[in-house]
Amino acid sequence: MLTVALLLAMVSFATFVAETFLYFGFVKWYYGAGPALNSQCWQTRASRQEVVEAIDSARKRRGKERLKLASKRRAGDVFLLRFRWWDLSIWSRVMVRVVEGPGSHGAVIGYEVRPFVSPAMVALSVLLFFESSRLQLLTVGYFLVVVLMYAIGLWWELRKLRGLEPLRRELAGLGLAVCAKCGYDRFGLQPEAVCPECGAPG
Ligand SMILES: [Zn+2]
Repeated sequence: MLTVALLLAMVSFATFVAETFLYFGFVKWYYGAGPALNSQCWQTRASRQEVVEAIDSARKRRGKERLKLASKRRAGDVFLLRFRWWDLSIWSRVMVRVVEGPGSHGAVIGYEVRPFVSPAMVALSVLLFFESSRLQLLTVGYFLVVVLMYAIGLWWELRKLRGLEPLRRELAGLGLAVCAKCGYDRFGLQPEAVCPECGAPG
């Protein structure tokens, strides 16, 4: 059983190293790889250029806002977002893309969240390594616990990201209107209308 535990520990560590390497070395590819677990689109009245400039000025600002638009992580109209690292998983992948909307309405902002895996796996493999006397039970539970931690971590992360509140506040002046509760795009709705998605008051 020790061999199995060691193998799991090595796989976990390799995953962590690989994710770290990709995060720093191949940012654009890494953020876009794999399925998006959460994605939303918002319509604004402002042009693509205005939205890009607004986000740009927000990411260069210093202060206490929770959303950090990492200054070196912009590729064209794609912004790669980070909260403070202690708020989220280690190498989370949150991407905001600004594109020209249909007709003459203005820009569309889309954001996507992709999963991470290594932090939970590494933490558990370290625990496993030092608990070698009860390896059988631990090994059996290993993947179950990883899956559980992963699910909880992701749920936590998505809750924090839902609606990307600091970004929306930043763009409210440009006509971005999004439901505060569920992130639904309220473009074209009357200000007092209830949210069609979750029923929250306007
Ligand atoms: Zn809503």
